[in-house]
Amino acid sequence: MPQEQPLKDYKMKRDFIRTPEPQGNEVKPHEQPIFVIQKHDATRLHYDFRLEVNGVLKSWAVPKGPSMDPGVRHLAIQTDDHPLDYSHFEGIIPEGNYGAGVVMVWDTGIYRSISIDQRTGEHIPMDKAIEQGKVEVWLEGKRLNGGFALIRIGKGGDGKWLLIKMRDKYANAGYEPLKSEPDSVLSGLSLEQIAGKSGTGTQIKQK
Ligand code: MN
Repeated sequence: MPQEQPLKDYKMKRDFIRTPEPQGNEVKPHEQPIFVIQKHDATRLHYDFRLEVNGVLKSWAVPKGPSMDPGVRHLAIQTDDHPLDYSHFEGIIPEGNYGAGVVMVWDTGIYRSISIDQRTGEHIPMDKAIEQGKVEVWLEGKRLNGGFALIRIGKGGDGKWLLIKMRDKYANAGYEPLKSEPDSVLSGLSLEQIAGKSGTGTQIKQK
C-alpha cells in the first residue's frame, strides 16, 4: 500500500488520551531493520509479529505464536501497520480501547530479508515481497533465530497468511520458547506482573 498517510488506520482506531500506546513519533528507520514479537493478552491471547519496513512495523497477529518446528504452520492475520516506537511498548491498554489488554515484548532483535526471486536469483525488497505474499526473513533475536517464512493464503483479501519456521540449524521441534520463556524479554515481567503494575512507565489513567 502507498505511504501517503502512513499509520492512518493505526491512529484512527486509537484515542491517545485513553491509551498509553505510542503515537508514532519515532520515524527514523533503524540502521538494521528490527523485528518484534509482542505477547498480547486481549480478547484472545495472541502474538503480534512485526517487521520494520520503510519506517513502520508491518504486523501480523498470530494466535498460536511462532514455532521452531518447520513442520508446523500457524495462521497469521495481517493487521494494521504500527509505528516504530511500538517495538518497545509494554503495558496495559485499558478497557474500552482498541486491543484492550496486556502487551508484553516477548522477543526483539534485528532481521534481514532473505527473499530471493527464483528466476533472477535477485534479492526481493521487503515491500515487494509482502505485496507478492511471500516473505522470508532471517531473525536474530534473543529467543527466535534463523529463517521464518510468511506465506499468504486464500484470495489475499482477508489477510490470512501462514507463519512457518524454515529449515536451518535453528529449526528444532523440541524447542518451545513460548512455553519455556513466557515472560518479557525486556523487563522479565510476566503478563500478570505487567497487569498488576498499573502506571509503569506510561501515562495509564486509572478510573
Ligand atoms: Mn495484538
